[in-house]
Amino acid sequence: MKNIPFNKPYLTGKEVHYLYQAVYSGKLSGNGIFTQKCQQLFRDQFGFGKCLLTTSCTDALEMAALLLNIQTGDEVILPSYTFVSTANAFVLRGAKLVFADSYDWHPNVDAGQIESLITERTKAIIVVHYAGVACDMAKVLDIAHRYNIPVVEDAAQAVDSYYQFPNGSSKALGAIGDLAAFSFHETKNIISGEGGMLSVNNPKYEERSEIIWEKGTNRSAFFRGEVDKYGWVDIGSSFLPSETIAAFLYAQLENLEDIQTKRKAIWEKYHNGIKHLEDVGKLKRPMLPEYATNNAHMYYVICRTEEERQALILFLKEKGVHAVFHYLSLHKSPFYQSLHDGRSLPNCDFYADHLLRLPFFYELLESEQDYIISQVYTFYHAK
Ligand SMILES: *Cc1c(COP(=O)(O)O)cnc(C)c1O
Repeated sequence: MKNIPFNKPYLTGKEVHYLYQAVYSGKLSGNGIFTQKCQQLFRDQFGFGKCLLTTSCTDALEMAALLLNIQTGDEVILPSYTFVSTANAFVLRGAKLVFADSYDWHPNVDAGQIESLITERTKAIIVVHYAGVACDMAKVLDIAHRYNIPVVEDAAQAVDSYYQFPNGSSKALGAIGDLAAFSFHETKNIISGEGGMLSVNNPKYEERSEIIWEKGTNRSAFFRGEVDKYGWVDIGSSFLPSETIAAFLYAQLENLEDIQTKRKAIWEKYHNGIKHLEDVGKLKRPMLPEYATNNAHMYYVICRTEEERQALILFLKEKGVHAVFHYLSLHKSPFYQSLHDGRSLPNCDFYADHLLRLPFFYELLESEQDYIISQVYTFYHAK
């Protein structure tokens, strides 16, 4: 009997070596050599602004909300089809969430809707690059600049993915908004167990970002010799991870290219293997807009009905294949539905009910993938 999990964390082999180095270096707390190596690598490779490792993407988003000075009653525009942390970070500051719907052709936020949601109180626009596929950033930036509203990218799934502007130039996701948050949770492409990063692309947030990161103190400036004593200068928290986390992450980053090559091959195999089912109208495959690259974060299909999706999940489970659905609409969540302004968001609800993710991890064997694909065909009585 097969037993193919949905995810399996991949180890490059170097992790334990770097962990050993970190442990015996005599410095285990945060902001040491491995932290700086990771941050530098991200800057060099992707053109991010100031990079700060965090203990999770959730933390990086909370830092973003602090940096933007979100206050009670401020409004924040974000998609409803996202992970709870995208929303929670701003709710913790007292923000009112103004949910935008997804496209009908992609789970990403429909950038054309954002402008109509802006009010005097709008203090941030949060976009989520679902499955590592870019949102329409030219449109988002145009609105943000006209209204002078900062943009935060929830780039949790978007490492090593790019957006092409209408003039042909490209930027890495996470290098475009004023601030961007990444995740290195074990379900993402590059992992450290739990882990994340904030990239501070707008220099006006740089100085304060380091202070918020270090419990509201100017400790980092002190260690650089810029001030002769350090103290409590702002609000903040303990957002920085220990060196052991950074050491683990560094091993992954060194192997980014290999990891991505492998993941892209897995993605393509699903995409080609399932094409016929789309051709005969059984399901839909993911769409990639022309302006986006694919970082092979996940492979999903869109089922025709919620019942069919549930039946497919159960069928695959019986065959030893762990497939899963994804986000539930945040505007209908037990916590936020009574606070939502009542607008219906049909595309978000559609993805909540119809999207199904197939097992996706580095070590997924070709033979296992063949098996998964053939089981999906069997379910649809197709060849
Ligand atoms: C994974 C994820 C997060 C949360 O990341 P953590 O590192 O687990 O805090 C936030 N937003 C999105 C879109 C994610 O996929």
